[in-house]
Amino acid sequence: MKVIKIAPRGYCYGVVDAMQIAREAAKNPDLPRPIYIIGLIVHNRFAVQELTDLGLITLDGPDRAAILDQVQEGTVIFTAHGVSPAVKERARERGLHIIDATCPDVTKTHDLVKDLVAQGYTILYVGKKGHPEPEGVIGEAPNDVFLVETVADVAALDLPAERTAKLAITTQTTLSQWDTRAVIDAARARFPHIAVYNEICRATQVRQEAVATQAQGADLTIVVGDPRSNNTNRLAQVAEEIAGSPAVRIESLADLPPDVLQGKERIAITSGASTPSQITREVIRYVEAQAQTAGPAEEKPNAGE
Ligand code: SF4
Repeated sequence: MKVIKIAPRGYCYGVVDAMQIAREAAKNPDLPRPIYIIGLIVHNRFAVQELTDLGLITLDGPDRAAILDQVQEGTVIFTAHGVSPAVKERARERGLHIIDATCPDVTKTHDLVKDLVAQGYTILYVGKKGHPEPEGVIGEAPNDVFLVETVADVAALDLPAERTAKLAITTQTTLSQWDTRAVIDAARARFPHIAVYNEICRATQVRQEAVATQAQGADLTIVVGDPRSNNTNRLAQVAEEIAGSPAVRIESLADLPPDVLQGKERIAITSGASTPSQITREVIRYVEAQAQTAGPAEEKPNAGE
Protein backbone atom coordinates (compact mmCIF):
# COMPACT_ATOMS: atom_id res chain seq x y z
CA MET A 1 0.00 0.00 0.00
CA LYS A 2 1.35 3.43 -0.93
CA VAL A 3 0.55 6.42 1.29
CA ILE A 4 0.43 9.81 -0.44
CA LYS A 5 0.79 12.67 2.06
CA ILE A 6 -0.75 15.51 0.12
CA ALA A 7 1.15 18.78 0.49
CA PRO A 8 0.40 21.46 1.38
CA ARG A 9 -2.31 20.50 3.86
CA GLY A 10 -3.57 21.59 7.29
CA TYR A 11 -3.39 24.89 9.15
CA CYS A 12 -3.34 28.02 6.95
CA TYR A 13 -1.70 31.32 7.96
CA GLY A 14 -5.09 32.80 9.00
CA VAL A 15 -5.77 29.96 11.41
CA VAL A 16 -2.20 29.94 12.78
CA ASP A 17 -2.53 33.67 13.52
CA ALA A 18 -6.02 33.39 15.07
CA MET A 19 -4.91 30.58 17.37
CA GLN A 20 -1.80 32.51 18.40
CA ILE A 21 -3.81 35.68 19.11
CA ALA A 22 -6.18 33.66 21.32
CA ARG A 23 -3.33 31.88 23.17
CA GLU A 24 -1.62 35.20 23.88
CA ALA A 25 -4.90 36.68 25.14
CA ALA A 26 -5.28 33.78 27.57
CA LYS A 27 -1.78 34.47 28.96
CA ASN A 28 -2.24 38.25 29.27
CA PRO A 29 -3.21 39.09 32.89
CA ASP A 30 -4.04 42.71 31.93
CA LEU A 31 -7.05 41.82 29.77
CA PRO A 32 -10.51 42.19 31.35
CA ARG A 33 -12.00 38.83 32.35
CA PRO A 34 -13.85 36.73 31.35
CA ILE A 35 -12.45 36.34 27.84
CA TYR A 36 -15.04 35.09 25.35
CA ILE A 37 -14.56 33.83 21.80
CA ILE A 38 -17.55 34.91 19.69
CA GLY A 39 -18.24 31.75 17.70
CA LEU A 40 -15.78 28.93 17.07
CA ILE A 41 -12.26 30.35 16.67
CA VAL A 42 -11.93 27.99 13.71
CA HIS A 43 -14.27 25.16 12.75
CA ASN A 44 -12.46 22.41 14.63
CA ARG A 45 -13.42 21.04 18.03
CA PHE A 46 -9.85 20.10 18.98
CA ALA A 47 -8.68 23.67 18.36
CA VAL A 48 -11.65 24.97 20.37
CA GLN A 49 -10.83 22.55 23.23
CA GLU A 50 -7.20 23.72 23.35
CA LEU A 51 -8.41 27.27 24.00
CA THR A 52 -11.04 26.14 26.51
CA ASP A 53 -8.25 24.41 28.42
CA LEU A 54 -6.45 27.78 28.57
CA GLY A 55 -9.50 29.37 30.23
CA LEU A 56 -11.14 31.01 27.21
CA ILE A 57 -14.92 30.67 26.89
CA THR A 58 -16.23 29.80 23.43
CA LEU A 59 -19.81 30.89 22.79
CA ASP A 60 -21.85 29.64 19.85
CA GLY A 61 -25.21 30.63 18.41
CA PRO A 62 -27.20 31.31 15.24
CA ASP A 63 -25.29 34.50 14.37
CA ARG A 64 -22.58 36.76 15.78
CA ALA A 65 -25.02 39.39 17.11
CA ALA A 66 -27.01 36.73 19.00
CA ILE A 67 -23.79 35.32 20.47
CA LEU A 68 -22.62 38.76 21.55
CA ASP A 69 -25.93 39.28 23.36
CA GLN A 70 -24.80 36.60 25.84
CA VAL A 71 -21.84 38.78 26.94
CA GLN A 72 -22.13 41.52 29.57
CA GLU A 73 -18.49 42.22 30.47
CA GLY A 74 -14.88 41.34 29.83
CA THR A 75 -13.05 40.72 26.55
CA VAL A 76 -14.40 39.38 23.27
CA ILE A 77 -12.30 37.75 20.55
CA PHE A 78 -13.69 37.89 17.01
CA THR A 79 -12.75 34.81 14.99
CA ALA A 80 -10.81 34.33 11.74
CA HIS A 81 -14.13 34.42 9.82
CA GLY A 82 -14.67 38.13 10.58
CA VAL A 83 -17.74 40.00 11.83
CA SER A 84 -20.02 42.73 10.48
CA PRO A 85 -19.52 46.40 11.47
CA ALA A 86 -22.83 46.21 13.40
CA VAL A 87 -21.44 43.46 15.66
CA LYS A 88 -18.24 45.44 16.30
CA GLU A 89 -20.30 48.51 17.11
CA ARG A 90 -22.50 46.58 19.53
CA ALA A 91 -19.40 45.29 21.36
CA ARG A 92 -18.04 48.85 21.62
CA GLU A 93 -21.37 50.17 22.95
CA ARG A 94 -21.24 47.55 25.70
CA GLY A 95 -17.77 48.68 26.73
CA LEU A 96 -16.26 45.28 25.94
CA HIS A 97 -12.55 44.96 25.25
CA ILE A 98 -12.22 43.76 21.61
CA ILE A 99 -9.56 41.50 20.11
CA ASP A 100 -10.02 41.01 16.38
CA ALA A 101 -8.54 37.76 14.98
CA THR A 102 -10.13 38.19 11.54
CA CYS A 103 -7.90 36.71 8.82
CA PRO A 104 -6.34 39.47 6.67
CA ASP A 105 -7.73 37.74 3.56
CA VAL A 106 -11.27 38.08 4.93
CA THR A 107 -10.63 41.72 5.85
CA LYS A 108 -9.54 42.27 2.22
CA THR A 109 -13.00 41.12 1.02
CA HIS A 110 -14.70 43.43 3.56
CA ASP A 111 -12.63 46.34 2.19
CA LEU A 112 -13.41 45.38 -1.40
CA VAL A 113 -17.17 45.32 -0.70
CA LYS A 114 -17.04 48.71 1.06
CA ASP A 115 -15.09 50.19 -1.88
CA LEU A 116 -17.41 48.82 -4.55
CA VAL A 117 -20.56 49.92 -2.73
CA ALA A 118 -19.05 53.41 -2.31
CA GLN A 119 -18.60 53.45 -6.10
CA GLY A 120 -22.31 52.63 -6.58
CA TYR A 121 -22.02 48.91 -7.32
CA THR A 122 -24.56 46.25 -6.42
CA ILE A 123 -22.71 43.08 -5.43
CA LEU A 124 -23.44 39.39 -5.87
CA TYR A 125 -21.55 37.50 -3.16
CA VAL A 126 -20.93 33.79 -3.78
CA GLY A 127 -20.96 32.13 -0.36
CA LYS A 128 -22.45 29.54 1.89
CA LYS A 129 -25.74 30.38 3.59
CA GLY A 130 -25.46 30.30 7.39
CA HIS A 131 -21.63 30.51 7.43
CA PRO A 132 -20.14 33.31 9.59
CA GLU A 133 -17.88 34.70 6.83
CA PRO A 134 -20.76 35.71 4.46
CA GLU A 135 -22.64 37.04 7.49
CA GLY A 136 -19.77 39.41 8.26
CA VAL A 137 -19.06 40.51 4.68
CA ILE A 138 -22.72 41.05 3.74
CA GLY A 139 -23.05 43.02 6.98
CA GLU A 140 -20.80 45.69 5.42
CA ALA A 141 -23.69 46.72 3.13
CA PRO A 142 -26.76 44.55 3.72
CA ASN A 143 -28.91 46.49 1.20
CA ASP A 144 -26.40 46.26 -1.64
CA VAL A 145 -24.97 42.73 -1.35
CA PHE A 146 -26.95 39.67 -2.49
CA LEU A 147 -25.89 36.16 -1.45
CA VAL A 148 -25.85 33.52 -4.20
CA GLU A 149 -24.79 29.96 -3.55
CA THR A 150 -25.49 28.15 -6.82
CA VAL A 151 -26.01 28.62 -10.55
CA ALA A 152 -29.76 28.26 -9.85
CA ASP A 153 -29.56 31.20 -7.40
CA VAL A 154 -28.07 33.36 -10.16
CA ALA A 155 -30.85 32.35 -12.55
CA ALA A 156 -33.49 33.15 -9.90
CA LEU A 157 -32.14 36.65 -9.11
CA ASP A 158 -34.80 39.29 -9.53
CA LEU A 159 -32.93 42.61 -9.47
CA PRO A 160 -34.53 45.88 -10.58
CA ALA A 161 -32.92 47.39 -13.73
CA GLU A 162 -31.22 50.20 -11.79
CA ARG A 163 -29.43 47.56 -9.70
CA THR A 164 -27.90 45.78 -12.69
CA ALA A 165 -26.24 48.80 -14.34
CA LYS A 166 -23.18 48.61 -12.04
CA LEU A 167 -22.83 45.04 -10.94
CA ALA A 168 -19.92 43.14 -9.37
CA ILE A 169 -19.49 39.58 -8.12
CA THR A 170 -17.15 38.44 -5.37
CA THR A 171 -16.73 35.32 -3.24
CA GLN A 172 -16.20 33.71 0.14
CA THR A 173 -12.53 32.73 0.70
CA THR A 174 -12.98 28.98 1.25
CA LEU A 175 -15.15 27.84 -1.67
CA SER A 176 -14.44 25.18 -4.27
CA GLN A 177 -12.71 26.88 -7.20
CA TRP A 178 -14.62 24.71 -9.66
CA ASP A 179 -18.11 25.33 -8.21
CA THR A 180 -17.36 29.03 -7.92
CA ARG A 181 -16.21 29.24 -11.52
CA ALA A 182 -19.58 27.77 -12.60
CA VAL A 183 -21.50 30.36 -10.55
CA ILE A 184 -19.33 33.22 -11.87
CA ASP A 185 -19.76 31.95 -15.46
CA ALA A 186 -23.55 31.88 -14.95
CA ALA A 187 -23.45 35.47 -13.65
CA ARG A 188 -21.29 36.53 -16.63
CA ALA A 189 -23.70 34.87 -19.05
CA ARG A 190 -26.63 36.72 -17.53
CA PHE A 191 -24.86 40.04 -16.90
CA PRO A 192 -21.97 40.26 -19.43
CA HIS A 193 -20.73 43.57 -17.99
CA ILE A 194 -20.39 42.23 -14.39
CA ALA A 195 -17.05 43.01 -12.70
CA VAL A 196 -15.49 39.84 -11.25
CA TYR A 197 -13.42 39.71 -8.03
CA ASN A 198 -12.62 36.12 -7.10
CA GLU A 199 -11.62 36.20 -3.42
CA ILE A 200 -10.92 32.50 -2.82
CA CYS A 201 -7.78 32.78 -0.70
CA ARG A 202 -4.35 31.52 -1.73
CA ALA A 203 -4.26 28.93 1.09
CA THR A 204 -7.58 27.42 -0.06
CA GLN A 205 -6.51 27.42 -3.71
CA VAL A 206 -3.19 25.65 -3.17
CA ARG A 207 -4.75 23.02 -0.89
CA GLN A 208 -7.47 22.29 -3.46
CA GLU A 209 -4.99 22.18 -6.36
CA ALA A 210 -2.76 19.81 -4.37
CA VAL A 211 -5.70 17.41 -3.89
CA ALA A 212 -6.79 17.76 -7.53
CA THR A 213 -3.36 16.61 -8.75
CA GLN A 214 -1.89 14.45 -5.97
CA ALA A 215 -5.05 12.41 -5.21
CA GLN A 216 -5.39 11.31 -8.82
CA GLY A 217 -5.20 7.53 -9.01
CA ALA A 218 -5.72 7.10 -5.24
CA ASP A 219 -8.17 4.33 -4.26
CA LEU A 220 -9.14 6.45 -1.28
CA THR A 221 -8.53 10.00 -0.06
CA ILE A 222 -8.78 10.58 3.68
CA VAL A 223 -9.64 14.19 4.53
CA VAL A 224 -9.08 15.05 8.20
CA GLY A 225 -11.23 17.89 9.50
CA ASP A 226 -14.35 19.03 11.29
CA PRO A 227 -17.75 18.47 9.59
CA ARG A 228 -18.51 22.20 10.05
CA SER A 229 -15.35 23.29 8.24
CA ASN A 230 -16.25 24.53 4.77
CA ASN A 231 -12.73 24.23 3.37
CA THR A 232 -12.44 20.65 4.71
CA ASN A 233 -15.67 19.60 3.03
CA ARG A 234 -14.54 21.23 -0.20
CA LEU A 235 -11.30 19.18 -0.15
CA ALA A 236 -13.35 15.96 0.02
CA GLN A 237 -15.47 17.26 -2.86
CA VAL A 238 -12.37 18.10 -4.94
CA ALA A 239 -10.94 14.60 -4.31
CA GLU A 240 -14.12 12.97 -5.59
CA GLU A 241 -15.19 15.33 -8.37
CA ILE A 242 -11.85 16.57 -9.73
CA ALA A 243 -9.25 13.93 -8.82
CA GLY A 244 -11.72 11.04 -9.21
CA SER A 245 -10.76 9.46 -5.88
CA PRO A 246 -13.42 8.23 -3.41
CA ALA A 247 -13.09 10.34 -0.26
CA VAL A 248 -13.84 9.85 3.42
CA ARG A 249 -13.90 12.84 5.80
CA ILE A 250 -12.97 12.09 9.37
CA GLU A 251 -12.64 14.35 12.39
CA SER A 252 -9.82 12.25 13.87
CA LEU A 253 -8.35 8.75 13.76
CA ALA A 254 -11.17 7.48 15.99
CA ASP A 255 -13.60 8.11 13.08
CA LEU A 256 -11.74 6.07 10.48
CA PRO A 257 -14.15 3.32 9.37
CA PRO A 258 -12.69 -0.07 10.41
CA ASP A 259 -12.30 -1.76 7.01
CA VAL A 260 -11.85 1.28 4.85
CA LEU A 261 -8.15 0.60 4.12
CA GLN A 262 -8.63 -3.03 3.15
CA GLY A 263 -7.75 -3.85 -0.45
CA LYS A 264 -6.55 -0.32 -1.18
CA GLU A 265 -3.28 0.15 -3.07
CA ARG A 266 -2.93 3.94 -2.90
CA ILE A 267 -4.24 6.04 -0.01
CA ALA A 268 -4.00 9.85 -0.16
CA ILE A 269 -4.26 11.90 3.05
CA THR A 270 -4.95 15.60 3.48
CA SER A 271 -6.52 17.90 6.06
CA GLY A 272 -8.54 21.09 6.25
CA ALA A 273 -7.04 24.51 6.94
CA SER A 274 -8.50 24.42 10.46
CA THR A 275 -7.25 20.94 11.45
CA PRO A 276 -4.45 20.82 14.07
CA SER A 277 -1.35 19.06 12.69
CA GLN A 278 -1.15 16.48 15.48
CA ILE A 279 -4.62 15.14 14.61
CA THR A 280 -3.53 14.58 11.00
CA ARG A 281 -0.16 13.15 12.11
CA GLU A 282 -1.97 10.44 14.11
CA VAL A 283 -3.95 9.43 11.04
CA ILE A 284 -0.82 9.37 8.84
CA ARG A 285 1.12 7.31 11.40
CA TYR A 286 -1.72 4.79 11.64
CA VAL A 287 -2.16 4.44 7.88
CA GLU A 288 1.62 4.14 7.33
CA ALA A 289 1.76 1.42 10.00
CA GLN A 290 -1.04 -0.41 8.19
CA ALA A 291 0.83 -0.06 4.91
CA GLN A 292 3.82 -1.89 6.43
CA THR A 293 1.69 -4.63 7.97
CA ALA A 294 0.78 -7.50 5.72
CA GLY A 295 -1.61 -9.04 8.25
CA PRO A 296 -5.07 -7.98 9.48
CA ALA A 297 -5.66 -4.34 10.51
CA GLU A 298 -4.40 -3.35 13.96
CA GLU A 299 -6.80 -2.05 16.56
CA LYS A 300 -6.90 1.73 16.30
CA PRO A 301 -5.77 3.82 19.26
CA ASN A 302 -8.16 6.53 20.44
CA ALA A 303 -7.59 10.04 19.08
CA GLY A 304 -5.36 12.08 21.34
CA GLU A 305 -3.32 9.09 22.52
S1 SF4 B 1 -8.75 29.66 4.80
FE1 SF4 B 1 -7.90 31.51 3.85
S2 SF4 B 1 -9.26 33.15 4.49
FE2 SF4 B 1 -9.69 31.41 5.84
S3 SF4 B 1 -8.37 31.77 7.62
FE3 SF4 B 1 -7.20 30.49 6.18
S4 SF4 B 1 -5.99 31.94 4.96
FE4 SF4 B 1 -7.62 33.09 5.95
